[in-house]
Amino acid sequence: MAKRDYYEVLGVEKNASDSEIKKAYRKLAMKYHPDKAGDDKEAEEKFKEASEAYEVLSDSEKKARYDQYGHAGLEGAFGQGGFSWSDFTHAGDFSDLFGEGGFSSIFEQFFGGFGGGGGRSRGQKRNRGEDLQLEISITLKEVNDGADKKLKIKIKDNCDSCNGSGSADGASETCPQCNGQGQVRQVRQSLFGQIQTVGECPTCHGKGKIIKNKCPKCTGSGRVDTFKEIKITIPAGIDDGQYFRLRGQGNIGVNNGERGDIIVLVHVKEHDLFEREGANLILEYPISFSQAALGDEVKVPTINGKIKLKVPEGTQSGKVLRLRGQGLPHVNSTYKGDLYIKLMVITPTKLSSRERELLQELQTYDSEKKLKPGKGFFDKLKEFLF
Ligand SMILES: [Zn+2]
Ligand SMILES: [Zn+2]
Repeated sequence: MAKRDYYEVLGVEKNASDSEIKKAYRKLAMKYHPDKAGDDKEAEEKFKEASEAYEVLSDSEKKARYDQYGHAGLEGAFGQGGFSWSDFTHAGDFSDLFGEGGFSSIFEQFFGGFGGGGGRSRGQKRNRGEDLQLEISITLKEVNDGADKKLKIKIKDNCDSCNGSGSADGASETCPQCNGQGQVRQVRQSLFGQIQTVGECPTCHGKGKIIKNKCPKCTGSGRVDTFKEIKITIPAGIDDGQYFRLRGQGNIGVNNGERGDIIVLVHVKEHDLFEREGANLILEYPISFSQAALGDEVKVPTINGKIKLKVPEGTQSGKVLRLRGQGLPHVNSTYKGDLYIKLMVITPTKLSSRERELLQELQTYDSEKKLKPGKGFFDKLKEFLF
């Protein structure tokens, strides 16, 4: 397949300014990033294609070569097999895209182990720990009231034996390969001269330091698995499948790095009585034929307790009554949904002899009364039968 023009990929003019190019890439990255696109292979390709285009067009030297010679001008600019994520040096420019740490963690998640290298030299926080995801199941009552949960989770914390340094004696040395930079430049020859690329230092894995005498407890990583109790405050009104972040409560970073987040995914268990529709609740409530015909006052359950409800005289089965404000709260709002009560007239299946007697009397009376159903009903019945 022929390589598409980089300007076309980003949807910008040839004379587009740096900020227009950046804006166009941001838009595409938002569209195709994996949080939105999921496991879509095509979206992944689009994301990568746009990133390659941005990598070239945001670099004045590469852009000049591309403008003059097209794709041929960039031969050798990327590794064998063309652009790969290790060639992308702009993750740090977009750390604001998906919240703090979000963009680089997306790279990690999506393309495996990239995130740190690109951002570090641009002042991103060093060695941020991983985000942890956990799922929690709550009841509908807890959705109504909000809930505090305590959970014990396995988390990476500082090694207490070396205070997170990873060193048995506290000593570390500057990495000889990168001189403490954590990154190394590679120089390649190409048709158009020398090309430099920057990548993570393979000796120190970007840390800039090496430890000769490793801490035996954490084998030099500075982190150990610990069980930690965390408190999760679940906001009232949350929906099934929603998630929220506990910032700075995830794994601690290597060498006392910043903590990642905990992402809490919420499941709401089904309720025996109430069905949920957003903030509204629906309840099917059985009434007898006599209650429906004569009307009555009944006590119906709500999510908060019980409430008196007037069943109007002559209620048809399936009639819905609305109780305002008896539904669930909206998240971060004082506004509440409604409770819809669907009155279901129940036909009895087991009759006592007294009930049978009364109903038979009613039946006799009904037939004498010559019930008059809607006009045309008997005509239709006749047509159907004869
Ligand atoms: Zn190094
Ligand atoms: Zn240790």
